[in-house]
Amino acid sequence: MFGLIGHLSSLKHAQSVAHALGYSEYSNQGLDFWCSAPPLVVDSFHVTSITGQVIEGKYIESCFLPEMLINRRIKSAIRKVLNAMALSQKSDIDITALGGFSSVIFEEFNLKENNQVRNIELDFNRFTTGNTHTAYIICRQIELVSAQLGIDLASATVAVCGATGDIGSAVCRWLEKKNNVAELLLVARNRERLDNLRAELGRGEIFSLEEALPKADIVVWVASMPKGVEISSEILKKPCLIIDGGYPKNLDSKFAQSDVYVLKGGIVEHSLDIDWKIMEVVSMDTPSRQMFACFAEAILLEFEQWHTNFSWGRNLITIEKMELIGQASIKHGFSPLVSL
Ligand code: NDP
Repeated sequence: MFGLIGHLSSLKHAQSVAHALGYSEYSNQGLDFWCSAPPLVVDSFHVTSITGQVIEGKYIESCFLPEMLINRRIKSAIRKVLNAMALSQKSDIDITALGGFSSVIFEEFNLKENNQVRNIELDFNRFTTGNTHTAYIICRQIELVSAQLGIDLASATVAVCGATGDIGSAVCRWLEKKNNVAELLLVARNRERLDNLRAELGRGEIFSLEEALPKADIVVWVASMPKGVEISSEILKKPCLIIDGGYPKNLDSKFAQSDVYVLKGGIVEHSLDIDWKIMEVVSMDTPSRQMFACFAEAILLEFEQWHTNFSWGRNLITIEKMELIGQASIKHGFSPLVSL
């Protein structure tokens, strides 16, 4: 059985969907309440591969909210992730994806040092960040949608915002090795990590966000931002393709201009319907088929019976592993979201 640990995108979102998740008593509660709420299994479902194989899964709501990071409720955030992992293990789930900020918190606060949660010793082999599949899907989205828009990658300038992150660094490796993009702009805050990435890639220019945006034909957003940023379309090159891969979404604004194209990044579509309610709760356009690519990674690991932490640690994602999970993705009927 596979598991998905997820969270909602904001306190407002949590209050509005508490009823649909089956705990109506949470809907009028503020952040303090959510800080003390336990994780819950809120959905059980089956997924059928195009090979005919059927597997069973569960969704665990961790009750983490991004406001916990914004308001420095770090201990609560850490507790949410560890308790959700303990619940997954107690529920005899073989492989579980740490969705959205769960894996960011796990890495940022070094939770591998905390493997004892009450009477449960966490077995990290049962968890995956899902970031290898997410990075693969974002790279395929870049390739497929740039072709649709007539942007030639070999002569394009691509800015990766969150370049030094787990997903961002993998995307940079792929863009450099597989696409040989003309210019690669690396955006993040920590200069030392940027310098290390540039040394590893053997190329790339380090820029601030303000400097990078006007130069880019393609902008990939994979920064771990608990709250989205607003950018003005005025400063963007036209046409410009923006792939927003963050959760919560990194971009707050809708772009009125027709030559700025924003694609939901790191989202896959399955070929067959799934009997779950959870993707409706997180407002997927086609909830019975679309999902976050990190969740799909747990599904793929279960289909293939690869019960191992396929994606783990930071900045260790190789192109070979992206290709391997990509082959499994195609084999079982997943495809990258490409509709703008
Ligand atoms: P990491 O924590 O590994 O990396 C985050 C990156 O963002 C780092 O480069 C960090 O560098 C940068 N960053 C953070 N804040 C800012 C900022 N304010 N301005 C510029 N850069 C910033 O995260 P992941 O790679 O694991 O995840 C990235 C995003 O993808 C998250 O939003 C996550 O929720 C989402 N995600 C989506 C999935 C999907 O299935 N669609 C699956 C998994 C994750 P620095 O700190 O130096 O600025």
